[in-house]
Amino acid sequence: MTSALRAVVVGGGMVGAACADALARHGAAVSVVEPGPLGGGATAAGMGHLVVMDDSPAQLALTARSLELWDALAPTLPAAADYRGCGTLWVASDDEELAAVQPKQAAYRAAGRTSEVLDAAELSALEPSLRPGLAGGLRVPGDAVVYAPVAAAFLLERSGAAVIRDSVVELEDGEVRLGSGARVAADVVVVAGGIGSLSLLPELPLRQRKGHLLITERGGLDVTHQLVELGYLKSAHASDADSVAFNVQPRPTGQLLIGSSRQFDRPDAAPEWFLLRRMLDRARAYLPGVAALSALRVWTGQRCATPDHLPLIGWHGERAGVFVATGHEGLGITTALGTAEVLAAQVFGTPSALTAFDFGVGRFHGVAHA
Ligand SMILES: Cc1cc2nc3c(=O)[nH]c(=O)nc-3n(C[C@H](O)[C@H](O)[C@H](O)COP(=O)(O)OP(=O)(O)OC[C@H]3O[C@@H](n4cnc5c(N)ncnc54)[C@H](O)[C@@H]3O)c2cc1C
Repeated sequence: MTSALRAVVVGGGMVGAACADALARHGAAVSVVEPGPLGGGATAAGMGHLVVMDDSPAQLALTARSLELWDALAPTLPAAADYRGCGTLWVASDDEELAAVQPKQAAYRAAGRTSEVLDAAELSALEPSLRPGLAGGLRVPGDAVVYAPVAAAFLLERSGAAVIRDSVVELEDGEVRLGSGARVAADVVVVAGGIGSLSLLPELPLRQRKGHLLITERGGLDVTHQLVELGYLKSAHASDADSVAFNVQPRPTGQLLIGSSRQFDRPDAAPEWFLLRRMLDRARAYLPGVAALSALRVWTGQRCATPDHLPLIGWHGERAGVFVATGHEGLGITTALGTAEVLAAQVFGTPSALTAFDFGVGRFHGVAHA
C-alpha cells in the first residue's frame, strides 16, 4: 500500500478551503494552516456574487466552469451558506451600452451559459426599483450568491483536513516552518494565503486592491437580482485610478449589500468616506430608493490582484513541491472551485476542463513586480 501524498495548504480562505477539499478528494492527507478565522481574510469581506465574467477567454472559461461546480455543490451546502440563484442583471444606461450586450451574450452562449437580452420595458418590469429611462440589460439567470465564510468552512470540514492554528513563516525543502517553530512535513505545499502569500513568496506579481462594501437596514427596497452596471466596469474599474461602479445585491434578510469600489495599494482598512460617497452616489443614480435607506455597517477588504487580472494557479516554477493558488482579485469566491480543480489536476497529473488556458506563474516571467 502506498502512503497518501502529504499536502499542506497555507490559508483557510475560500481558495485554500476549495483546494484542501479537491486535494483530499484525490486522496491526499491534507493539513491547512490558518492563524485567523476560517473563511476570514478577503473571503469574509467579499460580496459572494458568483458571476460569469468575459473580460478574457481564460476568465470566461474559469468563471463558467466554476459556476458549473457551484451548481453541483449547492444542494449539499448548509442553509447558513445562503446560496441563492438570484441571477445577475447587467444594466445598460444607454443604447451604446445596450449594444454591448450582444457580444456578451454570444460569449456566454459559447461558454454554455444562458442569458436573456432585455429592453427598457422588460428591465423595468423585472426590477421596478431601477430608475426610469434605462436602456435595457442582460439577465444571466444561472449566476448566484453565497455567504462565502460558511461555504469555506463547509469545504474544510468536508475535506477532513487537519486545521493547524498557526502561520507558515517559511517554505523549506519537504516541510513548512510555523510561527511556533514547529515544522510540518509536506510533499506538496499550496500557498493560498491571498495577499498574505507575498510574505512567503515576495517574487509573485501581486498587488492589494482595496474595496468598500455597505449593508443597509432591513426592508425598504424590493430588488430580486444582483444588479451591476454594464458600462463602467469595463472602463474605470480596469484602470489604475480609484474607481466605483454600481453593484447591488439583495440579501435574504431584506437588506441590500452595496458595492463596489477599487483602489490599488491602500493597506489601511479604514473606510475612505469620499470614495464611499462616490460609491453611494453611483448606486443612487441607478436605484434612487437607496437614498432613503440607512446604513447598518460599512467595511473594507483587500483583493489580491495580478497584472492581467487572472489568478496564479499551479506550480511555483522554481521551488520543488511548491504550488500557488492566489491573485483572484474580485472573483475568488466565484472561481475558487475551478481553481481547485486546475490545481489538483496539476498536482496529480489528472485531466482538467481548463487545460487550454495558462494560469501559471510562468506567464509573468520577465514582468517586473507590479
Ligand atoms: C470588497 C470585496 C468584494 C468582493 N466581492 C466578490 C464577489 O462578489 N465575488 C467574488 O467571487 N469575489 C469577490 N471578492 C474577492 C474574493 O473575496 C477574494 O478573491 C477571495 O476571498 C480570495 O480568497 P483567498 O482564500 O485567496 O484569500 P483570503 O480569503 O484572504 O484567505 C487567505 C487566508 O490565508 C491566511 N494566510 C495568509 N498568510 C498566511 C500564512 N503565512 N500562514 C497561514 N495562513 C496565512 C490569511 O489569514 C487568510 O485567512 C471580493 C473582495 C472584496 C475585498
